[in-house]
Amino acid sequence: MPLMTGEQYIESLRKLDTKVYIFGKEEKNWVDHPIIRPSINCVAITYDLAHDPEHEDLMTATSNLTGQKVNRFTHLHQSTEDLIKKVKMQRLLGRKTASCFQRCVGMDAFNAVYSTTYEVDRKYGTSYHENFKKYLTYVQENDLTIDGAMTDPKGDRGKSQGAQADPDLFVHIVEKRPDGIVVRGAKAHQTGSINSHEHLIMPTQAVSEEDKQYAVSFAVPSDAPGLFMIYGRQSCDTRKLEPGADVDLGNKQFGGQEALVVFDNVFVPNDRIFLCEEWDFAGMLVERFAGYHRQSYGGCKVGVGDVIIGAAALAADYNGAQKASHVKDKLIEMTHLNETLYSCGIACSCEGHCTAAGNYQIDLLLANVCKQNVTRFPYEIVRLAEDIAGGLMVTMPSEIDFKSALQIPTESGLTLGDWCNKFFKGTEGVTTENRMRILRFLENICLGSSAVGYRTESMHGAGSPQAQRIMIARQADYETKKQLAKDIAGIKE
Ligand code: SF4
Ligand code: FE
Repeated sequence: MPLMTGEQYIESLRKLDTKVYIFGKEEKNWVDHPIIRPSINCVAITYDLAHDPEHEDLMTATSNLTGQKVNRFTHLHQSTEDLIKKVKMQRLLGRKTASCFQRCVGMDAFNAVYSTTYEVDRKYGTSYHENFKKYLTYVQENDLTIDGAMTDPKGDRGKSQGAQADPDLFVHIVEKRPDGIVVRGAKAHQTGSINSHEHLIMPTQAVSEEDKQYAVSFAVPSDAPGLFMIYGRQSCDTRKLEPGADVDLGNKQFGGQEALVVFDNVFVPNDRIFLCEEWDFAGMLVERFAGYHRQSYGGCKVGVGDVIIGAAALAADYNGAQKASHVKDKLIEMTHLNETLYSCGIACSCEGHCTAAGNYQIDLLLANVCKQNVTRFPYEIVRLAEDIAGGLMVTMPSEIDFKSALQIPTESGLTLGDWCNKFFKGTEGVTTENRMRILRFLENICLGSSAVGYRTESMHGAGSPQAQRIMIARQADYETKKQLAKDIAGIKE
C-alpha cells in the first residue's frame, strides 16, 4: 500500500475493534470522541506531511528492507544523516501541532528491537531478528502507527519484578505453547496507544535470570482479544465537551494522548515474538529504546518550544509590552534554552554509530544529556512565557461570557459580552478575541491539557531525570578523565 493520507489513517482506525474505556464506560466511537480526537488529528499530520513536497525529504525515507519509499516514522535509520533528519522531522511536527504527535515511540521501538534481536539471535541461535524484519515489512507496507510500549506500572519500586505482591505489575509470560505465548500485565501512560494500529511491547527494565518470564518483547494488534485500554485524563479535558468550545481550548485541533494498556491473557503467535526469556538482553533493549527516545525530545519539545516562544512574543505585542527591554531579554532567554535542547538532539545524532545489525544508534551519553536538559529547560521556558503573558492568562472569563448578549441591568445598558470586550482590550488594532486566543493557548500549554505533553512529559517521558543520571554516570568514563588529569599534572603512581 502507498503512503496513507491523514484521512485514510483516521478511517483505518475505525476498522479496528479497539476496546477503549473513558469516564467509567466503554466508548465505541472513540475516533470521534471530543477528548480523544485532537490526539488522532496529531498523528494524522504525520501522514499528511509525507505527501507534501516541501517536507518529503524529512518525512519519508527509502526502506532498507523493501527498497520502497516509506514514512520516516516506520524507518530504520541507515546513517547519521537519517538520525539528524529524524530530529528535524520531530521539530517540524512540534511546530505544526504544539503537541505530542505520538508516532515516535513506534519508530524508536523499531530501531531498538531491530538491533537487539540481531544480537540475541547471534548468541542464542533464535530467529527473532527474522521475525522482526517480517513484522516491520508488514508495518512499512501498510504504513501503520505502532505504540512502542515500555513502561510497566511497576508497583513497589523497592522490589524486583518477581518479588511484587501482584505478579501482573510487570508484563510477563504466563504460558508457553507450541504455537506461541500467553502474556499478562499492563503498560502505563502509553503515548498514542489508542490510536495505534498495533503495540510493540518491550521490557521496562533489566531482568535477572530468576525473573526471566518478564524478559519478553512481542507485537499484537490493538484489538487483540484480552487487550483493552483506559484513557488517561488531562487537566481541563472536559472543556472539550463544552458545546461549541473553541477559544477556551487554546489548541482546538491537536493534543496528546496517554492510556493504560491492559493485557489480560493475550495470545502472541510465535512469529510475533522478539524476545522470550533471554533475560540478559532486556537491559540492552531498554537502554537502546530509551536512548532513541531521549534523542527524540531534542526535536519534538523544541518544535513545541518554537510555538510557545511565538505565542509569548504575540502576547507581548497584544499587551503593548513588546518594546520593554526585559520582555526582549526573556524572549532571548527562551530561544537560547530551546536551541540548546535542539543542539543536544542534533549532537547525539551526529555522533551516532552503526550497530551490528546495520541500523544507526545515537550517542548514548549525549542523548541522555539531551533528555536531562529537557527535564529542566521547558519548565523555565514556560515560566518565562507565563511571566510575559501576565495574570490574565488564568483570570479571563469564559468565551461564552465574551460572546454573551445578556443585557446587564445597569445604567449603560451594555451586554455581558460588551463589558468583557471593553475591559480586556489590549493594544489598538488587536481584537479582544485574538488576545484571548493567544492567552488561552499559553494557558493550555502551561497548565491545561497540553501541559501533559510539554511540561510533565518533559520531566517523565522517555524516563525520569534520575534514569538519565544513572546513564550519564555509566557513560562518563571517569577513569579516562582521571588519567588525563594525571598526565598533565605530572602524577606517576
Ligand atoms: Fe514523539 Fe515527543 Fe511525543 Fe515522544 S513526546 S511521542 S518524541 S512527540
Ligand atoms: Fe513521550
